[in-house]
Amino acid sequence: MADDIADRTDGTIETDVVIVGAGPAGAAAAMTLARAGLRATILDKAIFPRDKFCGDGLTVWTLRQLDEMGLDPATVPSWRVVKQAVLISPSGREVLLPLPERGTFCAVARRSELDAAVLDIAREAGAEVLTGQECTSLAQGDDRVRVATSTGMTVVGRYLIAADGMWSTVRKLTGTGIEGYRGEWHAFRQYFEGVTGRAQDEMLAWFEPDFLPGYAWSFPVGNNEANVGFGIMRGGSWRVGAMRELWAEISSRPHIRAALGPGAAPEGPPRAWPIPARVGEVPLSCGRVLFTGDAAAAADPLTGEGIGQAYATGRWAADAIIRCGASVGEPMVADRYESSVRSSLFRDHQMSALLNRALSHRKGARTAIWLVSLSPWTRRNFARWLFEDYPRAMLATPRRWHHGMFSGPGAFGP
Ligand SMILES: Cc1cc2nc3c(=O)[nH]c(=O)nc-3n(C[C@H](O)[C@H](O)[C@H](O)COP(=O)(O)OP(=O)(O)OC[C@H]3O[C@@H](n4cnc5c(N)ncnc54)[C@H](O)[C@@H]3O)c2cc1C
Repeated sequence: MADDIADRTDGTIETDVVIVGAGPAGAAAAMTLARAGLRATILDKAIFPRDKFCGDGLTVWTLRQLDEMGLDPATVPSWRVVKQAVLISPSGREVLLPLPERGTFCAVARRSELDAAVLDIAREAGAEVLTGQECTSLAQGDDRVRVATSTGMTVVGRYLIAADGMWSTVRKLTGTGIEGYRGEWHAFRQYFEGVTGRAQDEMLAWFEPDFLPGYAWSFPVGNNEANVGFGIMRGGSWRVGAMRELWAEISSRPHIRAALGPGAAPEGPPRAWPIPARVGEVPLSCGRVLFTGDAAAAADPLTGEGIGQAYATGRWAADAIIRCGASVGEPMVADRYESSVRSSLFRDHQMSALLNRALSHRKGARTAIWLVSLSPWTRRNFARWLFEDYPRAMLATPRRWHHGMFSGPGAFGP
Protein backbone atom coordinates (compact mmCIF):
# COMPACT_ATOMS: atom_id res chain seq x y z
CA MET A 1 0.00 0.00 0.00
CA ALA A 2 2.85 2.40 0.85
CA ASP A 3 4.39 1.86 -2.59
CA ASP A 4 1.07 2.30 -4.23
CA ILE A 5 0.79 5.71 -2.59
CA ALA A 6 4.37 6.67 -3.38
CA ASP A 7 3.96 5.70 -7.03
CA ARG A 8 0.98 7.93 -7.46
CA THR A 9 2.27 11.19 -5.99
CA ASP A 10 2.98 12.74 -9.42
CA GLY A 11 0.83 15.82 -9.79
CA THR A 12 -0.52 15.46 -6.28
CA ILE A 13 0.03 17.69 -3.26
CA GLU A 14 2.66 16.36 -0.84
CA THR A 15 2.33 17.56 2.71
CA ASP A 16 3.12 16.50 6.27
CA VAL A 17 -0.43 16.46 7.62
CA VAL A 18 -3.71 16.45 5.70
CA ILE A 19 -6.62 17.91 7.65
CA VAL A 20 -10.15 17.21 6.48
CA GLY A 21 -12.55 19.91 7.71
CA ALA A 22 -11.74 23.58 8.30
CA GLY A 23 -14.12 24.23 11.21
CA PRO A 24 -12.80 24.85 14.75
CA ALA A 25 -11.03 21.48 15.10
CA GLY A 26 -9.37 21.57 11.67
CA ALA A 27 -8.31 25.22 11.76
CA ALA A 28 -6.85 24.89 15.28
CA ALA A 29 -4.93 21.76 14.27
CA ALA A 30 -3.60 23.34 11.08
CA MET A 31 -2.36 26.53 12.72
CA THR A 32 -0.65 24.54 15.50
CA LEU A 33 1.16 22.37 12.94
CA ALA A 34 2.12 25.29 10.70
CA ARG A 35 3.48 27.30 13.64
CA ALA A 36 5.67 24.32 14.52
CA GLY A 37 7.10 24.34 10.99
CA LEU A 38 5.16 21.37 9.59
CA ARG A 39 3.34 21.49 6.26
CA ALA A 40 -0.38 21.39 6.97
CA THR A 41 -2.97 21.15 4.19
CA ILE A 42 -6.66 21.63 5.06
CA LEU A 43 -9.47 20.52 2.76
CA ASP A 44 -13.06 21.62 3.26
CA LYS A 45 -16.00 20.92 1.02
CA ALA A 46 -17.48 24.35 1.81
CA ILE A 47 -16.36 27.77 0.61
CA PHE A 48 -15.70 30.10 3.55
CA PRO A 49 -17.32 32.03 5.10
CA ARG A 50 -19.80 29.19 5.57
CA ASP A 51 -22.61 28.86 8.08
CA LYS A 52 -22.54 26.22 10.81
CA PHE A 53 -25.79 25.49 12.63
CA CYS A 54 -24.84 26.46 16.16
CA GLY A 55 -25.90 28.52 19.19
CA ASP A 56 -22.78 30.69 18.69
CA GLY A 57 -22.09 30.68 22.46
CA LEU A 58 -18.43 30.79 23.52
CA THR A 59 -17.44 29.63 27.00
CA VAL A 60 -14.36 30.92 28.78
CA TRP A 61 -12.39 27.76 27.90
CA THR A 62 -13.17 28.42 24.24
CA LEU A 63 -12.30 32.11 24.62
CA ARG A 64 -8.98 31.41 26.34
CA GLN A 65 -8.05 29.14 23.44
CA LEU A 66 -9.04 31.80 20.90
CA ASP A 67 -6.91 34.27 22.83
CA GLU A 68 -3.94 31.84 22.78
CA MET A 69 -4.42 31.20 19.07
CA GLY A 70 -4.23 34.94 18.41
CA LEU A 71 -7.82 35.84 17.47
CA ASP A 72 -8.59 39.55 17.55
CA PRO A 73 -12.33 39.80 18.41
CA ALA A 74 -12.47 43.00 16.33
CA THR A 75 -12.16 40.79 13.20
CA VAL A 76 -15.52 39.17 14.05
CA PRO A 77 -18.27 41.79 13.49
CA SER A 78 -21.02 39.98 15.45
CA TRP A 79 -18.77 39.46 18.54
CA ARG A 80 -20.72 40.30 21.74
CA VAL A 81 -19.32 39.99 25.25
CA VAL A 82 -21.83 38.66 27.79
CA LYS A 83 -21.52 39.71 31.42
CA GLN A 84 -24.50 37.87 32.82
CA ALA A 85 -26.62 34.89 31.86
CA VAL A 86 -30.18 34.14 32.97
CA LEU A 87 -31.52 30.65 33.69
CA ILE A 88 -35.28 30.19 33.79
CA SER A 89 -36.43 27.10 35.68
CA PRO A 90 -39.42 24.90 34.71
CA SER A 91 -41.50 26.85 37.26
CA GLY A 92 -40.61 30.19 35.63
CA ARG A 93 -38.19 31.21 38.39
CA GLU A 94 -35.28 33.29 37.07
CA VAL A 95 -31.70 33.10 38.27
CA LEU A 96 -29.12 35.68 37.20
CA LEU A 97 -25.60 34.30 36.81
CA PRO A 98 -23.04 37.10 37.00
CA LEU A 99 -19.66 36.55 35.34
CA PRO A 100 -16.39 38.02 36.63
CA GLU A 101 -15.22 41.37 35.28
CA ARG A 102 -11.55 40.47 34.78
CA GLY A 103 -11.50 39.58 31.10
CA THR A 104 -14.12 37.89 28.93
CA PHE A 105 -15.88 34.85 30.42
CA CYS A 106 -18.61 34.46 27.82
CA ALA A 107 -19.21 35.81 24.32
CA VAL A 108 -21.43 35.17 21.33
CA ALA A 109 -20.25 35.30 17.71
CA ARG A 110 -21.84 34.12 14.46
CA ARG A 111 -20.07 30.96 13.39
CA SER A 112 -19.91 32.08 9.77
CA GLU A 113 -17.68 34.98 10.86
CA LEU A 114 -15.81 33.29 13.70
CA ASP A 115 -14.81 30.19 11.72
CA ALA A 116 -13.63 32.30 8.77
CA ALA A 117 -11.54 34.49 11.11
CA VAL A 118 -9.93 31.47 12.78
CA LEU A 119 -9.24 29.89 9.39
CA ASP A 120 -7.52 33.13 8.34
CA ILE A 121 -5.20 32.78 11.34
CA ALA A 122 -4.33 29.24 10.22
CA ARG A 123 -3.66 30.55 6.70
CA GLU A 124 -1.47 33.36 8.04
CA ALA A 125 0.44 30.81 10.13
CA GLY A 126 1.35 29.06 6.86
CA ALA A 127 -1.28 26.34 6.50
CA GLU A 128 -2.46 25.61 2.98
CA VAL A 129 -6.25 26.00 2.84
CA LEU A 130 -8.13 24.32 -0.02
CA THR A 131 -11.87 24.99 0.07
CA GLY A 132 -14.56 23.57 -2.21
CA GLN A 133 -12.75 20.22 -1.88
CA GLU A 134 -14.80 17.34 -0.54
CA CYS A 135 -12.85 14.34 0.68
CA THR A 136 -14.33 11.33 -1.09
CA SER A 137 -11.78 8.56 -0.58
CA LEU A 138 -8.69 7.72 1.36
CA ALA A 139 -6.03 5.05 1.44
CA GLN A 140 -3.59 4.35 4.25
CA GLY A 141 -0.15 2.94 3.65
CA ASP A 142 2.70 2.03 6.00
CA ASP A 143 3.96 5.56 6.23
CA ARG A 144 1.45 7.78 4.42
CA VAL A 145 -2.16 8.48 3.85
CA ARG A 146 -3.66 9.59 0.56
CA VAL A 147 -6.86 11.58 0.25
CA ALA A 148 -8.80 12.18 -2.97
CA THR A 149 -11.40 14.89 -3.40
CA SER A 150 -14.54 15.38 -5.46
CA THR A 151 -12.67 17.62 -7.91
CA GLY A 152 -10.03 14.99 -8.64
CA MET A 153 -7.32 16.46 -6.42
CA THR A 154 -5.05 14.12 -4.44
CA VAL A 155 -3.23 15.06 -1.24
CA VAL A 156 -0.67 12.78 0.39
CA GLY A 157 0.54 13.28 3.96
CA ARG A 158 2.17 11.44 6.82
CA TYR A 159 -0.94 11.82 8.97
CA LEU A 160 -4.57 12.76 8.53
CA ILE A 161 -6.51 14.76 11.10
CA ALA A 162 -10.23 14.13 10.67
CA ALA A 163 -12.05 17.34 11.63
CA ASP A 164 -15.04 16.81 9.39
CA GLY A 165 -17.79 17.04 11.95
CA MET A 166 -20.71 14.92 13.11
CA TRP A 167 -21.20 12.99 9.85
CA SER A 168 -17.45 12.50 9.38
CA THR A 169 -16.73 11.07 5.93
CA VAL A 170 -13.28 10.01 7.16
CA ARG A 171 -14.86 7.94 9.93
CA LYS A 172 -17.07 6.21 7.36
CA LEU A 173 -14.13 5.65 5.01
CA THR A 174 -12.07 4.08 7.80
CA GLY A 175 -14.97 1.85 8.85
CA THR A 176 -14.87 3.13 12.45
CA GLY A 177 -18.37 4.63 12.60
CA ILE A 178 -21.05 3.39 14.97
CA GLU A 179 -23.93 1.83 13.06
CA GLY A 180 -27.03 4.07 13.18
CA TYR A 181 -25.37 6.69 15.40
CA ARG A 182 -27.14 10.08 15.28
CA GLY A 183 -25.62 12.00 18.15
CA GLU A 184 -26.68 12.52 21.77
CA TRP A 185 -28.39 15.88 21.22
CA HIS A 186 -30.43 17.29 18.38
CA ALA A 187 -30.72 21.07 18.17
CA PHE A 188 -32.63 23.70 16.18
CA ARG A 189 -31.33 27.19 15.56
CA GLN A 190 -32.96 30.23 13.96
CA TYR A 191 -31.72 33.82 13.78
CA PHE A 192 -34.24 36.53 14.65
CA GLU A 193 -34.01 40.16 13.58
CA GLY A 194 -35.85 43.21 14.92
CA VAL A 195 -35.23 42.02 18.49
CA THR A 196 -36.16 44.80 20.91
CA GLY A 197 -36.85 42.85 24.11
CA ARG A 198 -34.31 41.78 26.74
CA ALA A 199 -32.95 39.15 24.31
CA GLN A 200 -31.15 41.88 22.36
CA ASP A 201 -28.46 41.93 25.06
CA GLU A 202 -29.17 39.13 27.53
CA MET A 203 -28.15 35.48 27.26
CA LEU A 204 -31.21 33.46 28.24
CA ALA A 205 -31.71 29.71 28.80
CA TRP A 206 -35.19 28.29 29.44
CA PHE A 207 -35.68 24.87 31.00
CA GLU A 208 -39.21 24.24 29.74
CA PRO A 209 -41.11 21.56 31.71
CA ASP A 210 -42.27 19.66 28.63
CA PHE A 211 -38.97 18.95 26.90
CA LEU A 212 -36.50 17.94 29.56
CA PRO A 213 -33.73 16.91 29.23
CA GLY A 214 -33.13 19.89 26.98
CA TYR A 215 -33.38 23.67 26.94
CA ALA A 216 -34.25 26.62 24.73
CA TRP A 217 -31.90 29.58 24.37
CA SER A 218 -31.62 33.09 23.05
CA PHE A 219 -28.13 34.52 22.61
CA PRO A 220 -27.52 38.12 21.43
CA VAL A 221 -25.52 38.61 18.21
CA GLY A 222 -25.81 42.40 17.96
CA ASN A 223 -27.76 44.71 15.61
CA ASN A 224 -31.03 43.78 17.34
CA GLU A 225 -30.51 40.16 16.31
CA ALA A 226 -30.50 36.98 18.35
CA ASN A 227 -29.59 33.34 17.86
CA VAL A 228 -32.62 31.45 19.19
CA GLY A 229 -32.93 27.70 19.41
CA PHE A 230 -33.51 24.60 21.44
CA GLY A 231 -31.87 21.25 21.92
CA ILE A 232 -33.18 17.96 23.24
CA MET A 233 -31.48 14.73 24.15
CA ARG A 234 -32.27 11.69 22.09
CA GLY A 235 -34.31 9.19 24.07
CA GLY A 236 -36.00 11.94 26.14
CA SER A 237 -39.69 12.83 26.21
CA TRP A 238 -39.76 14.11 22.60
CA ARG A 239 -38.97 12.35 19.39
CA VAL A 240 -36.42 14.16 17.24
CA GLY A 241 -38.82 13.73 14.30
CA ALA A 242 -41.35 15.98 16.07
CA MET A 243 -38.87 18.81 16.65
CA ARG A 244 -39.80 20.96 13.66
CA GLU A 245 -43.41 21.09 14.77
CA LEU A 246 -42.34 21.65 18.37
CA TRP A 247 -40.01 24.47 17.35
CA ALA A 248 -42.85 26.41 15.70
CA GLU A 249 -44.78 26.17 18.95
CA ILE A 250 -41.85 26.88 21.32
CA SER A 251 -40.66 29.93 19.44
CA SER A 252 -44.11 31.46 19.76
CA ARG A 253 -44.54 30.80 23.51
CA PRO A 254 -45.52 34.10 25.20
CA HIS A 255 -42.44 34.34 27.50
CA ILE A 256 -40.07 33.70 24.59
CA ARG A 257 -41.90 36.16 22.33
CA ALA A 258 -41.82 38.72 25.17
CA ALA A 259 -38.04 38.31 25.52
CA LEU A 260 -37.60 38.86 21.76
CA GLY A 261 -40.00 41.80 21.56
CA PRO A 262 -43.16 42.33 19.49
CA GLY A 263 -41.47 43.10 16.14
CA ALA A 264 -38.94 40.23 16.17
CA ALA A 265 -39.11 38.04 13.06
CA PRO A 266 -37.13 35.05 11.81
CA GLU A 267 -34.20 36.00 9.57
CA GLY A 268 -34.35 32.68 7.72
CA PRO A 269 -35.65 29.14 8.14
CA PRO A 270 -34.79 27.12 11.26
CA ARG A 271 -31.83 24.78 10.89
CA ALA A 272 -31.25 21.55 12.77
CA TRP A 273 -28.19 19.40 13.33
CA PRO A 274 -27.13 16.66 15.75
CA ILE A 275 -24.52 17.09 18.49
CA PRO A 276 -22.28 14.09 19.25
CA ALA A 277 -21.24 13.84 22.91
CA ARG A 278 -19.74 10.46 23.72
CA VAL A 279 -16.03 10.99 23.47
CA GLY A 280 -15.02 7.98 25.57
CA GLU A 281 -16.93 5.56 23.41
CA VAL A 282 -15.74 6.11 19.83
CA PRO A 283 -12.30 5.27 18.42
CA LEU A 284 -10.03 8.34 18.49
CA SER A 285 -7.64 7.01 15.88
CA CYS A 286 -7.34 4.49 13.09
CA GLY A 287 -3.82 3.91 11.82
CA ARG A 288 -2.48 7.28 10.69
CA VAL A 289 -5.84 9.01 11.17
CA LEU A 290 -6.69 11.01 14.33
CA PHE A 291 -10.32 12.03 14.96
CA THR A 292 -11.05 15.43 16.51
CA GLY A 293 -13.97 17.69 17.43
CA ASP A 294 -17.44 16.41 16.47
CA ALA A 295 -15.76 13.67 14.44
CA ALA A 296 -14.54 12.41 17.84
CA ALA A 297 -17.96 13.07 19.47
CA ALA A 298 -16.22 15.51 21.81
CA ALA A 299 -19.09 17.93 22.67
CA ASP A 300 -20.12 18.41 26.30
CA PRO A 301 -22.99 16.01 27.21
CA LEU A 302 -24.50 18.55 29.61
CA THR A 303 -24.82 21.64 27.41
CA GLY A 304 -24.02 20.42 23.88
CA GLU A 305 -21.15 22.94 23.62
CA GLY A 306 -18.45 21.64 21.34
CA ILE A 307 -16.43 24.57 19.96
CA GLY A 308 -13.88 24.61 22.81
CA GLN A 309 -13.66 20.82 22.70
CA ALA A 310 -13.04 21.00 18.93
CA TYR A 311 -10.23 23.57 19.32
CA ALA A 312 -8.68 21.51 22.13
CA THR A 313 -8.80 18.13 20.37
CA GLY A 314 -7.49 19.69 17.13
CA ARG A 315 -4.59 21.22 19.02
CA TRP A 316 -3.85 17.98 20.96
CA ALA A 317 -3.83 15.96 17.73
CA ALA A 318 -1.41 18.44 16.15
CA ASP A 319 0.69 18.47 19.28
CA ALA A 320 0.97 14.65 19.29
CA ILE A 321 2.31 14.74 15.70
CA ILE A 322 4.69 17.61 16.46
CA ARG A 323 6.10 15.98 19.58
CA CYS A 324 6.56 12.58 17.99
CA GLY A 325 7.78 13.97 14.65
CA ALA A 326 5.66 13.62 11.51
CA SER A 327 7.57 10.58 10.27
CA VAL A 328 7.35 8.45 13.41
CA GLY A 329 5.18 5.28 13.52
CA GLU A 330 1.50 5.82 14.11
CA PRO A 331 1.04 3.92 17.41
CA MET A 332 3.17 6.47 19.27
CA VAL A 333 1.30 9.44 17.84
CA ALA A 334 -2.11 7.86 18.42
CA ASP A 335 -1.15 6.90 22.01
CA ARG A 336 -0.01 10.42 22.78
CA TYR A 337 -3.16 11.97 21.32
CA GLU A 338 -5.50 9.52 23.02
CA SER A 339 -3.80 10.02 26.33
CA SER A 340 -4.30 13.82 26.06
CA VAL A 341 -7.99 13.38 25.31
CA ARG A 342 -8.41 10.75 28.02
CA SER A 343 -6.71 12.76 30.76
CA SER A 344 -8.35 16.06 29.85
CA LEU A 345 -11.88 15.20 28.76
CA PHE A 346 -13.09 11.78 29.91
CA ARG A 347 -13.81 12.63 33.57
CA ASP A 348 -15.42 15.93 32.60
CA HIS A 349 -17.73 14.16 30.20
CA GLN A 350 -18.68 11.59 32.83
CA MET A 351 -19.48 14.41 35.26
CA SER A 352 -21.58 16.22 32.65
CA ALA A 353 -23.49 13.05 31.78
CA LEU A 354 -24.21 12.48 35.48
CA LEU A 355 -25.54 16.00 36.00
CA ASN A 356 -27.57 15.74 32.87
CA ARG A 357 -29.49 12.90 34.45
CA ALA A 358 -30.43 15.19 37.35
CA LEU A 359 -31.77 17.76 34.87
CA SER A 360 -33.86 15.19 33.01
CA HIS A 361 -36.96 15.73 35.13
CA ARG A 362 -38.89 18.81 36.22
CA LYS A 363 -38.15 18.21 39.90
CA GLY A 364 -34.42 17.71 39.27
CA ALA A 365 -34.19 20.81 37.07
CA ARG A 366 -36.20 22.90 39.55
CA THR A 367 -34.08 21.73 42.49
CA ALA A 368 -30.81 22.30 40.63
CA ILE A 369 -31.80 25.85 39.67
CA TRP A 370 -33.04 26.53 43.23
CA LEU A 371 -29.69 25.34 44.64
CA VAL A 372 -27.83 27.60 42.20
CA SER A 373 -29.94 30.57 43.30
CA LEU A 374 -29.28 30.19 47.02
CA SER A 375 -26.74 33.02 47.41
CA PRO A 376 -24.56 35.39 45.40
CA TRP A 377 -21.69 32.95 46.04
CA THR A 378 -23.55 29.94 44.57
CA ARG A 379 -24.68 32.00 41.56
CA ARG A 380 -21.21 33.37 40.87
CA ASN A 381 -19.46 30.04 41.23
CA PHE A 382 -22.03 28.07 39.30
CA ALA A 383 -21.70 30.60 36.46
CA ARG A 384 -17.94 30.03 36.34
CA TRP A 385 -18.38 26.26 36.38
CA LEU A 386 -21.14 26.32 33.72
CA PHE A 387 -19.06 28.53 31.42
CA GLU A 388 -16.08 26.16 31.69
CA ASP A 389 -13.83 28.52 33.61
CA TYR A 390 -12.28 25.31 34.89
CA PRO A 391 -12.87 21.68 33.87
CA ARG A 392 -16.23 20.17 34.83
CA ALA A 393 -14.68 17.46 37.02
CA MET A 394 -11.87 19.62 38.43
CA LEU A 395 -12.67 18.77 42.07
CA ALA A 396 -12.54 15.04 41.29
CA THR A 397 -9.18 15.18 39.52
CA PRO A 398 -6.48 16.41 41.95
CA ARG A 399 -3.76 15.99 39.32
CA ARG A 400 -5.23 19.05 37.55
CA TRP A 401 -5.24 21.24 40.64
CA HIS A 402 -3.01 24.26 40.45
CA HIS A 403 -2.58 27.59 42.16
CA GLY A 404 -5.31 30.07 41.17
CA MET A 405 -7.45 27.42 39.45
CA PHE A 406 -10.67 29.06 40.69
CA SER A 407 -9.61 32.67 40.29
CA GLY A 408 -7.91 32.95 36.90
CA PRO A 409 -8.74 35.91 34.64
CA GLY A 410 -10.94 35.42 31.58
CA ALA A 411 -9.74 35.68 27.99
CA PHE A 412 -8.66 38.93 26.30
CA GLY A 413 -8.22 40.25 29.81
CA PRO A 414 -6.48 43.28 31.17
C1 LIG B 1 -27.88 23.84 16.87
C2 LIG B 1 -26.55 23.70 17.54
C3 LIG B 1 -26.18 24.60 18.52
C4 LIG B 1 -24.89 24.55 19.09
N1 LIG B 1 -24.52 25.52 19.97
C5 LIG B 1 -23.25 25.54 20.45
C6 LIG B 1 -22.82 26.63 21.26
O1 LIG B 1 -23.56 27.58 21.52
N2 LIG B 1 -21.54 26.61 21.72
C7 LIG B 1 -20.68 25.58 21.44
O2 LIG B 1 -19.54 25.59 21.92
N3 LIG B 1 -21.07 24.54 20.64
C8 LIG B 1 -22.31 24.52 20.12
N4 LIG B 1 -22.69 23.50 19.27
C9 LIG B 1 -21.72 22.45 18.91
C10 LIG B 1 -20.70 22.95 17.90
O3 LIG B 1 -21.36 23.60 16.83
C11 LIG B 1 -19.83 21.80 17.35
O4 LIG B 1 -19.44 20.98 18.42
C12 LIG B 1 -18.57 22.33 16.64
O5 LIG B 1 -18.93 23.04 15.47
C13 LIG B 1 -17.63 21.18 16.24
O6 LIG B 1 -16.57 21.69 15.46
P1 LIG B 1 -15.81 20.74 14.41
O7 LIG B 1 -14.65 21.53 13.88
O8 LIG B 1 -15.55 19.42 15.01
O9 LIG B 1 -16.88 20.47 13.24
P2 LIG B 1 -17.67 21.47 12.29
O10 LIG B 1 -17.77 22.81 12.89
O11 LIG B 1 -18.93 20.73 11.97
O12 LIG B 1 -16.76 21.58 10.99
C14 LIG B 1 -16.62 20.45 10.14
C15 LIG B 1 -16.14 20.95 8.79
O13 LIG B 1 -15.87 19.80 7.98
C16 LIG B 1 -16.31 20.05 6.66
N5 LIG B 1 -16.55 18.74 6.02
C17 LIG B 1 -17.47 17.82 6.35
N6 LIG B 1 -17.36 16.75 5.55
C18 LIG B 1 -16.32 17.00 4.71
C19 LIG B 1 -15.71 16.26 3.66
N7 LIG B 1 -16.13 15.04 3.29
N8 LIG B 1 -14.67 16.83 2.98
C20 LIG B 1 -14.22 18.07 3.32
N9 LIG B 1 -14.77 18.81 4.31
C21 LIG B 1 -15.79 18.27 5.01
C22 LIG B 1 -17.56 20.89 6.83
O14 LIG B 1 -17.84 21.66 5.66
C23 LIG B 1 -17.19 21.77 8.03
O15 LIG B 1 -16.63 23.02 7.63
C24 LIG B 1 -23.98 23.51 18.71
C25 LIG B 1 -24.37 22.58 17.74
C26 LIG B 1 -25.64 22.65 17.17
C27 LIG B 1 -26.02 21.64 16.12
